[in-house]
Amino acid sequence: MIVLVINCGSSSVKYEIFQTHPEASLATGIADRVAVNGGQQASLVHHPRFGEQYRLVAEMPSHQTALSHIVAALVDPDHGVIKSLDEVDAVGHRVVHGGEEFSASVLINDQVISAISRYCELAPLHNPPNLAGIRACQKYLPGVPQVAVFDTAFHQTIPPYAYVYGLPYRFYENHGIRRYGFHGTSHRYVALKAAEILQQRGVPTTEQRIITCHLGNGCSITAVRAGQSIDTSMGFTPLEGLLMGTRCGDLDPAVVAFLINEMGLSADQVDELLNEHSGLLGVSGVSSDMRDICAAVRAGNDRAQLALDIFCYRIKKYIGAYAAVMGGVDAVVFTAGIGENAPEVRASTVTGLEHLGLHLDEAANQGLSGGSEPVDISTPDSRARILVIPTDEELMIARDTAAIVTDKLPK
Ligand code: ADP
Repeated sequence: MIVLVINCGSSSVKYEIFQTHPEASLATGIADRVAVNGGQQASLVHHPRFGEQYRLVAEMPSHQTALSHIVAALVDPDHGVIKSLDEVDAVGHRVVHGGEEFSASVLINDQVISAISRYCELAPLHNPPNLAGIRACQKYLPGVPQVAVFDTAFHQTIPPYAYVYGLPYRFYENHGIRRYGFHGTSHRYVALKAAEILQQRGVPTTEQRIITCHLGNGCSITAVRAGQSIDTSMGFTPLEGLLMGTRCGDLDPAVVAFLINEMGLSADQVDELLNEHSGLLGVSGVSSDMRDICAAVRAGNDRAQLALDIFCYRIKKYIGAYAAVMGGVDAVVFTAGIGENAPEVRASTVTGLEHLGLHLDEAANQGLSGGSEPVDISTPDSRARILVIPTDEELMIARDTAAIVTDKLPK
């Protein structure tokens, strides 16, 4: 089976095309600066698994035009990876918000499209481009089954006492204001990998307590008990929880009223301040990029050090909280750009958590050299594992898509 995975962001379309038997990625790519300034400076970079990278500069005023260039690249005689679009058996879409309606991936039909449209209100930056991608695929790959894989779905097992906020209950009932959680596909992928490792070490799946730390530009942390998400740090939106590249994470909500009433900011300005000018960037004044923060720390920059300290302290605090609610922890997993590549963040996060059974092997932590396989960076006698597991959301989407489409095929 050939599965195309599409991830439409507000100004980009990322894609990866897989074959399922044997499982292999055939090509990846990204269309960038889509629908920005009329799409005049947009470009497409296409990487076939075997062969040279190909770059196209073209106008991409909409996600649909971007998709037209992507499907053309896939079948191009020089750098394409399939002969005809008829070879595509299914398309899997990353969809950010599935509200309370979707606790798993689904085959897309008219009702699913209406539901995704309804949740545009809750994810105004994400669900509209996701829908645009679905519609473009309906146009260029007519009749090919499409599957929606939701960022929120994995977290639908979180119990009400962890997802209802302390607001008057009607705000939840009438307006859906509650914790939803995000990065679900990544947390699920790495939690499954960690579960295999724990199982091999004799911890049965039903007893496993795993804490997954997705640390990229956006950061979130999830408590996974017996394979199910039972709490996560992102909330109604991806702003809550950990400190991130440009997002503030947890904050006293009274600060918002203060910024508006005492400092004269508009609601939109506050929203922009908290989402785009805060986090590592706002505290350090240096950058939102962890590589720059670490370089500035090495050069003796105090504010970069403070930003790094806040970043790690908050992860540590959440690990403690999630260990408390699960009655302990069997594995902490680090993933995404920072989690996979920043040994100083991993070290400073877990050092001091030996009372939870987490003992870091500092040489293994420092010596980690990338690769796609999970690596255990805890000492052999550590009661709980500390794992670095590269995430692969696209592969997870492709697997869900293939499973759903195969299930729907006439047997
Ligand atoms: P996104 O959330 O956009 O998918 P990524 O998962 O790629 O982002 O993570 C981006 C973050 O990873 C950035 O803060 C970047 O600085 C950080 N990162 C990538 N490589 C390294 C590295 N070698 N050392 C420290 N941080 C890194």
